[in-house]
Amino acid sequence: MTQYSRRSLLKGAALPALGTFALPTLAAAIQTNSSPQQRPRMKITDIRTAQVNVHGPQTHVRVYTDSGLYGQGESTDAAVGTASLVRSFRRILIGQDPLNVEALWERVRVSGIFAGAQGGQYITALTGIEIALWDLAGKILGLPVYQLLGGKFRDKVRIYCDSDMDDPLGPESDKKLPWIKSKGFTAMKIDLDEAKDPARFDSVNWTASNGEIDRMVKWVAHVRESIPKEMDLACDMHGRYDAPTGKKVAKALEPFRLLWLEEPVPPEDIDAMADIRHSTSTPICCGENLYMRWGYTELLQKQAADIIMPDIQKVGGLSEAKKIANMAQAYYIPFAPHCVVSPIGQMASAHVCAAVPNFLVCEWHWINHVDLWTTFVKEGEIIVNGYITVTDKPGIGVEMDEDAAKKAQIKGTPWFEPNL
Ligand code: MG
Repeated sequence: MTQYSRRSLLKGAALPALGTFALPTLAAAIQTNSSPQQRPRMKITDIRTAQVNVHGPQTHVRVYTDSGLYGQGESTDAAVGTASLVRSFRRILIGQDPLNVEALWERVRVSGIFAGAQGGQYITALTGIEIALWDLAGKILGLPVYQLLGGKFRDKVRIYCDSDMDDPLGPESDKKLPWIKSKGFTAMKIDLDEAKDPARFDSVNWTASNGEIDRMVKWVAHVRESIPKEMDLACDMHGRYDAPTGKKVAKALEPFRLLWLEEPVPPEDIDAMADIRHSTSTPICCGENLYMRWGYTELLQKQAADIIMPDIQKVGGLSEAKKIANMAQAYYIPFAPHCVVSPIGQMASAHVCAAVPNFLVCEWHWINHVDLWTTFVKEGEIIVNGYITVTDKPGIGVEMDEDAAKKAQIKGTPWFEPNL
């Protein structure tokens, strides 16, 4: 039998994987710059952004290295203003080893303790960089991101369709509900908040009248009757209402056995959320506007939600989302990420969903942008029969089609232009 040294085995394992992604000369250059233990050595040389507006603003972030490889990440929702924040983080990151993902994340976070690093745009900007660093690490090492996160519990990740409907009783519903069913989704979501409801008595206060609650029940009943019995239905109140409304709506919807009722009240008062949760058999879901582990500690300790829904493109990144999911598992609480981004962010989220035991379902929110969705990455459609098969390609494993993506570019913003 042929004898192999540890070094020759590592070399043999690394080269084909890199070769599938990068030019052979690039792989050779990385090997040349590697340590005796074959740990690739490279430095961050630039960080660039491109901004699009699809379901709200998204900032795409690329981290470049002296090897020629780059990683790509995406941040969302709180992404307005993140391009300048990303630029400001360059002074911390340029020249650093990109494989120390968590150490770089921590350096940027603690450097901003007095500059808003507790959440919002600061952490959203950091999130885009963190995701790009994981993509880059996967490309450098020739491994999919889920592998770097500890391996996968499942090959396929269940996706729910946000129906993004203004009126679930109108003609839009007649088109969308059969389409959602035809695509094989096993779960979907509707919104219940309606600013223009004629039963509202006040245009500022969101205490729902009985007329508004009756309208919500009617919407849910109609959708529930129009979709297959087996399909799960979630309902979102977008954190607009108050505590008494949240309790009444959760109680009124109990007969429908919802997958969840989302953010009946705003997320800041954990006790109010807990009060609603403990008043009803309707599962309460929240968390899309909470940040990092510290945003979830009180929510979990008080068991204020039945299900948590971190937005992986703003919560702090892939590793941070995994840590939050692991924290939730200790309370037997499932993890159902909020997700409103392109196939790049969606596949990045899928790697995390594959890598945690308590994953329930992940959102997809581009039903009003299907043409852009299917062309945004070179791999085309990534959701098949309501599931994403997590790719084995290095990194996140999908690559932007820039001609398609540029159609959504925010006017006047840079498109991955180098920083001078
Ligand atoms: Mg929501």
